[in-house]
Amino acid sequence: MGEITKQKRFFVFSITILNLFYFLLLISGVGKFISVKDYVLFLFLALGGYVAESFGVIRFGKFTVSSQFFFLFPMMAVFGPIVTSIVAYLIAIFDFSRVKPSIRMYSAVQYAISYYVAGLAFQIAGAGWAGIIIALLIFKILNFIMVDLFMYFNLDRWKNMVQSLKYMAFETGVFAIIMPMIFVLIKNINDLSLEVFTVYTLVFPFFFTYMLSRENRAKEELVEEKSSLSKNVGELKRILEISEMLKSNIPVVDLMMRVASIIHDDLGWEYILVSLVHPDDTIERIAYAGISQEDFARLKKNPPTLSFVKNIMRDEFKISNSYFIPQEANVNIPNEMSYIGKYEGSDRESWQDKDLLWIPIREKNGRMIAYVSPDKPRNGMRPKIDDIIILEIFANQVLVALENSSEFEVLQEKAIRDTQTGLYNHTEFYNRIEKVVESGEPFSLLMMDIDDFKLVNDSYGHQMGDIIIDYISEKIKSSIRHGDIAARYGGDEFTIILRGTKKQLAKSIAERLRMSVISGNPPIKITLSIGIAEYPEDSASSNGLVSSADRALYMAKMRGKNQIATFSG
Ligand code: GH3
Ligand code: MG
Repeated sequence: MGEITKQKRFFVFSITILNLFYFLLLISGVGKFISVKDYVLFLFLALGGYVAESFGVIRFGKFTVSSQFFFLFPMMAVFGPIVTSIVAYLIAIFDFSRVKPSIRMYSAVQYAISYYVAGLAFQIAGAGWAGIIIALLIFKILNFIMVDLFMYFNLDRWKNMVQSLKYMAFETGVFAIIMPMIFVLIKNINDLSLEVFTVYTLVFPFFFTYMLSRENRAKEELVEEKSSLSKNVGELKRILEISEMLKSNIPVVDLMMRVASIIHDDLGWEYILVSLVHPDDTIERIAYAGISQEDFARLKKNPPTLSFVKNIMRDEFKISNSYFIPQEANVNIPNEMSYIGKYEGSDRESWQDKDLLWIPIREKNGRMIAYVSPDKPRNGMRPKIDDIIILEIFANQVLVALENSSEFEVLQEKAIRDTQTGLYNHTEFYNRIEKVVESGEPFSLLMMDIDDFKLVNDSYGHQMGDIIIDYISEKIKSSIRHGDIAARYGGDEFTIILRGTKKQLAKSIAERLRMSVISGNPPIKITLSIGIAEYPEDSASSNGLVSSADRALYMAKMRGKNQIATFSG
């Protein structure tokens, strides 16, 4: 069966145009004077035969009909056995869809003999129904003997004899349907029938093109599915190999660089950028592939904010668990934040230079810890769901590798803690307080500040100041319960979220802390002032509560320091 190539489509197209031209000549009256009418007819039949043979077969459900049959049989009726047999021979010889020359030779001879004998029978039996049926049967029987029995001789074929006979009956039936056309051809002496014939040859190329494109589409889909399946299997295998490799505890940056180069080398993307989302919600461009070092340096300097990223990761762009943002969506990414290679896509299917694909890597609780942005697929096509799923499977392996990485854990922790005291930092304090507020659970907020700390620095030096900060931090850590959240708000300010604690109880806890600071043998005399506010009584928002506690702290300072004040409207 021939491959359906562009050339063949073009061939059908040109025959159609020729036919059209021919038809126009005829209806305009000029055709009546063309004495080469038979020659033209011959030409069309021969070309039609060649085209049909190149296209192979026409399908009707599971039955197929040899298509050259439609053309060579009418030709046989009009021009007789010798011409038809020569044309059939030539058609088969030049049918390069049969790759093996030996098979081509065999078919050519087989066709020549079949058409010659059938044509002879037609001449002898006479140009009528009987002649056609006899010729047809002889043709089919010869075909059956030479092709089914000799060419594909094997046991299965013998077993399939019934099937072959069914085929024969079917082809004969189809032929009977087009028989009226052949009668027209036989009697083509008058001009009217020639016109009809012209329409007939006009219809056929269209018919073939239609059949062809249907068949072609189905074939293409099948081939595509097959190749994408084997591609997917290959990719999955590769991913498994990789995930083994990722299990070893390698530095996070190296791990991510490996991830990027795998997506580049094995998963078919030209440019890859891997970004980490730190617990303090900052984004760090951590790895890349296919991008120059300078470009990466520029991208690293201009990371987007998490809210910017989240704003683009909208549900409308979600495919599976990833986000494909088509150029048409007109999402504006500032130039300094994005890598846009120079390439062009031409249609809806192909990747456009402003298309975005983001594959988030999420922890089980849904928090995004990283995302991969591959750009410019090597096949030039926008990703299909399969491509995205492959990337996601891979991203999942990366998650496992990250979670297993002790360095990543440290990195994660580092970002949320104050390096000096090990308490949560300012950003993390706000993250946490927001989460507690969201949960709706009541709590008290303690805001504290070391009294006259400037004096400590001024009188004893900054080193002593640092020692005092550490001392206070230790006191804070030992005075809170599991589940409470203590943070270094900044400088000499600290906060504690006492979960499930009313103001009254919070006050006694604060008092205990204040006392333990005084009585805990600090290297120099030191005191604390503490302000307390309660959620949701004093404020229903985290920011409001912080300023309430701050105001209470201010009151404590105003009243002479070294004391506790609770917020009162
Ligand atoms: P007040 O009782 O009103 O709080 O007076 P204060 O002197 O403590 O004033 P304030 O809280 O405004 O000053 C805090 C000072 O603490 C300012 C800064 O120089 C110092 N400081 C902040 N962080 C550190 C630190 O980590 N180490 C040291 N040595 N000093 C710090
Ligand atoms: Mg102070």
